[in-house]
Amino acid sequence: MELTLFFLLGLAVVIFFLFRGQRSGGVNRCTRCDGTGQVNERWPDPKVPGGWHILEGTCPKCKGKGRV
Ligand SMILES: [Zn+2]
Repeated sequence: MELTLFFLLGLAVVIFFLFRGQRSGGVNRCTRCDGTGQVNERWPDPKVPGGWHILEGTCPKCKGKGRV
C-alpha cells in the first residue's frame, strides 16, 4: 500500500514539472527568428523614417528564447 502511495506522489510531481516546463519554455519554434532568438531583418517599409525596416539582435517575438 505504501509503495502505491509513493508511486502516485512521484507521478504527480513528474506531471507538475512537465506542465511547468511547457509554460515557461514554450513548445513551438519561433517563426520569426527560426528558433535562433536573433533576427537580422531588412526590408523596404514606407511607414518608417528613411523608408527601411531594419532590425538586428534579439527577436521581439520570442524575446531571444527561440520558442513561443
Ligand atoms: Zn523569435
